[in-house]
Amino acid sequence: MSTHADTLHHQATLEWREGQPYSPVFGDVYFSRDSGLDETRHVFLQHNQLQERWQCLQQPCFTIVETGFGTGLNFLCAWQLWEQTAPADARLHFVSVEKYPLSHEDLARALALWPSLGSYRDALLAQYKQIVPGWQRLVFASGKVQLILIVGDVLDCLPRLGAHADAWFLDGFAPSRNPDMWQPALFSNMAAHSHAETTFATFTSAGIVKRGLQAAGFEVHKVAGHGRKREMLCGRFTKNKRLAPQPGRAIVIGGGIAGTATSRALAERGWQVTLMEQENTVGQKASGNPLGVLYPKLTRQDVPLGRLSLNGYLHSLRLLQLLGLQQQGQHDRCGMLQLAYDEREQERCDTIAAQGYTPELLRRVNAEEASQLAGTALLHDALYFPEAAWVRPRAYCEALASHPSITTMFTTHASRLQQTPDGWQVWSQHTLLAEAEIVILANANQIMDFSQSAHLPLSAVRGQVSQLQPLTDTPPLRTLLCSDGYIGPLLPDGYCLGATFTPDDHDTSVRAADHELNLAMLARTAPELYASLMPQIPQGRAAIRCTSPDYLPLVGPLFDYAQLQARPPRYTADPVSSLPWLPGLYVNTGHGSKGLTTAPLAAEILACAISGEPAPVDTALLAALDPNRFALRQYGLKRLVQGL
Ligand code: SAM
Repeated sequence: MSTHADTLHHQATLEWREGQPYSPVFGDVYFSRDSGLDETRHVFLQHNQLQERWQCLQQPCFTIVETGFGTGLNFLCAWQLWEQTAPADARLHFVSVEKYPLSHEDLARALALWPSLGSYRDALLAQYKQIVPGWQRLVFASGKVQLILIVGDVLDCLPRLGAHADAWFLDGFAPSRNPDMWQPALFSNMAAHSHAETTFATFTSAGIVKRGLQAAGFEVHKVAGHGRKREMLCGRFTKNKRLAPQPGRAIVIGGGIAGTATSRALAERGWQVTLMEQENTVGQKASGNPLGVLYPKLTRQDVPLGRLSLNGYLHSLRLLQLLGLQQQGQHDRCGMLQLAYDEREQERCDTIAAQGYTPELLRRVNAEEASQLAGTALLHDALYFPEAAWVRPRAYCEALASHPSITTMFTTHASRLQQTPDGWQVWSQHTLLAEAEIVILANANQIMDFSQSAHLPLSAVRGQVSQLQPLTDTPPLRTLLCSDGYIGPLLPDGYCLGATFTPDDHDTSVRAADHELNLAMLARTAPELYASLMPQIPQGRAAIRCTSPDYLPLVGPLFDYAQLQARPPRYTADPVSSLPWLPGLYVNTGHGSKGLTTAPLAAEILACAISGEPAPVDTALLAALDPNRFALRQYGLKRLVQGL
């Protein structure tokens, strides 16, 4: 098993020669000395015919995949042209793989060379923070332009890419300077992620590139290069018809964080969404606690749970920023201290701190510094996440559900799903509630009430939070603290701490015994704060979360379990196409107590898959979230085909 240490991201080391960035590692320049801007436009934009294609674009989105993000110059030029030529409601996905990301400072210095790109550069720099190994998505122009920046080696990452390119920007230093990248595997991976309208362009005319692309199925032309470069290559792929799903009507069942985030992600892609909730507003059940905490629970090994947590955390932070909840006093990046409260946690902290994350994401602090940051005496060292945040979950759900393409149906109990030739009908007993091409089940454990999803192995976990008021003029807690529970900073309605974890308990009454458990956790975590808050009888709230046996959520399309049981499959190397699917039926559930961190990203994963957009995470993670994984294992099958 690989560890994060294997995937540590190494920042680029640059030299500046006559004010231009140069890589001493590769012995090559980042862009042409004459004019990087003109070269980018000539090589990558013109020779992928982007202007012509975008002016008469029929599909809702367009995907560019690039090898070597470098300074982001190609991205900014593509974005500028997109804004000038593409239809106003279309979306550009720019996916770029970069092994050695530039520091923020170097990126700013390199892009300062192009004043005409000033506004695009500023927007990129504002978001080019907390860059981590693997997949991250930065959203610009109200979602009309999205950058999926993948930190890692092209040859490791392309096989895990859940996307089809409409155009390739084949960059990445000259083949003579960087022979490791220009391998046959690069070209075969490009082919695997291309369709019959996919084009490519590259600055190089090297024979090895020309032959490699031809062998992989590309038509290759040698054309005039830019400036001093005599020749370059461009061309197109010749196989695989492009499938471009068009948005239609969707029904989302469940008005918690999973349902509201899924509704929003679909609405932003042009779907007309009906959001059904049995309560009288959103965020009433597990998403109805007074305080939600957002932080990544990182793992020692590079496993799906840790990747989901990190990617989900970064996604949620960016989303909250776009929704403007901080300005409304519903959210704040107050920072979080994850306390190394026993030997095992100490070791976990040490391992994670040594994994090379940027200090903007996390750093290790000793007990003294932790106490200063928190504003109360702490006994343990900690991992400090300066951007970790709290949010009011109901306000988060309300903000997500507030979109002109989302219609809410409250006090509506969906009890039955009926497949039709065009999609699905949702019924309440004998009353037809609505019909649509697709249905997404996001109603936690109640998903098991529908016959199509009754087999999913979800279980209930009761959790109670406690609320305390400050009693003395003791300085308030300033950060989130996390040990075997959590406590938030002092907010106008007091402190909120929790939460208990009682499997298979569906009771939501508030219990004195559970308050005792929360208070004992507080006494161990922050004894000084605990002493200042005692004695008092806490207020509280209990809710039921929904978890899966492997603690990963269930995100994706469902297959027909009844048919599978009737005709159990023999071993097959391709279970995805040979299994009986329920077209248009999806789930987003099983987020346990981490829904605020993971459900919005899960919503994006679903919406991207449904709309034919690039997956915001790697395909191994998609497979780990496959809602059919338990049933597949039951029949000795693995989800072999990557992607949804
Ligand atoms: N497209 C960039 C721009 O707009 O500024 C310029 C790219 S620069 C010429 C080449 C980039 O490819 C460098 O940032 C380098 O770190 C990256 N690179 C080289 N080999 C790579 C590999 N095997 N995997 C991922 N990135 C790689």
